[in-house]
Amino acid sequence: MKLLDGKTLAAKLRAELKGKIETANKIPGLAVVIVGEDPASKIYVRNKIKACAEVGMKSFVYELPQSVSQAELERLLDTLAADEKVDGILLQLPLPKGFDAESAMSRIPASKDVDGFSAENLGKLVLHEERFAACTPSGIMKLLENEGVELKGKRAVIVGRSDTVGKPMALLLLNADATVTVCHSKTRDLQSICREADILVVAIGKPKFITEDMVKEGAIVVDVGMNRDENGKLCGDVDFEEVQKKASLITPVPGGVGPMTITMLLYNTCLAAWKE
Ligand code: NAP
Repeated sequence: MKLLDGKTLAAKLRAELKGKIETANKIPGLAVVIVGEDPASKIYVRNKIKACAEVGMKSFVYELPQSVSQAELERLLDTLAADEKVDGILLQLPLPKGFDAESAMSRIPASKDVDGFSAENLGKLVLHEERFAACTPSGIMKLLENEGVELKGKRAVIVGRSDTVGKPMALLLLNADATVTVCHSKTRDLQSICREADILVVAIGKPKFITEDMVKEGAIVVDVGMNRDENGKLCGDVDFEEVQKKASLITPVPGGVGPMTITMLLYNTCLAAWKE
């Protein structure tokens, strides 16, 4: 077994970005908009701002109270869309109850949608013309690429079909010529489907759900989950201790997929700024 070490790769890629930003004609700027007081969302936003500063990128934070109206939120997004200093716009999801996330997202132009969540960017991914693909799945693609994993013709199984992880992951793997199966909560006989996977990507949000008997010998296992176990310790959706005995490559949690997600956000913001 070898670790798919996202922490080390993320640090390397961020150092490269920092070097490019130092000599760039334009310092990229990311606007982050958060509505309400959700503690987890606040931590995510803080981490993104910190990561921007570390690579020398500008960030503009807009913390809006839950009492803000949909129209006011959309007016802010329109202003940011027109602002030349702002290359990327990130609207932290989920929005509090009562907000229309889809309508708010539609105010972010595809050229500044560095999260890759807009309908236009998702459509481009379907057409295999991806520019900004969702950060978590594209971070996973970078991890696999860095290890020299051949995807062509491989059986890839994805457990979870969220719009932000499972579905874009399936499209990226399909575009890379893998044979892809997507599983979800209504899937029958999940165990035997998972056991066929050369590459198993799990994004369901259930601690240690994928057990050793669901994994083929030598499989590559990517664990997107971020959960707390019964002792309050951070853990993934995969029972790492047992599954690592069978996997040829496996991501740890923490230190696997997570650091790559923010790295891809920085990366996409640079692409947006430099129109690369
Ligand atoms: P989500 O929107 O909650 O979707 C969960 C998916 O898992 C759904 O498609 C659901 O199926 C499926 N599912 C739930 N229980 C299942 C079961 N028993 N068997 C098979 N499928 C099942 O989740 P998400 O936003 O993709 O996030 C998943 C996990 O990844 C969470 O732990 C989240 O915190 C983590 N995450 C981590 C990062 C990172 O950067 N590391 C980024 C994003 C998310 P249905 O569609 O049928 O309901």
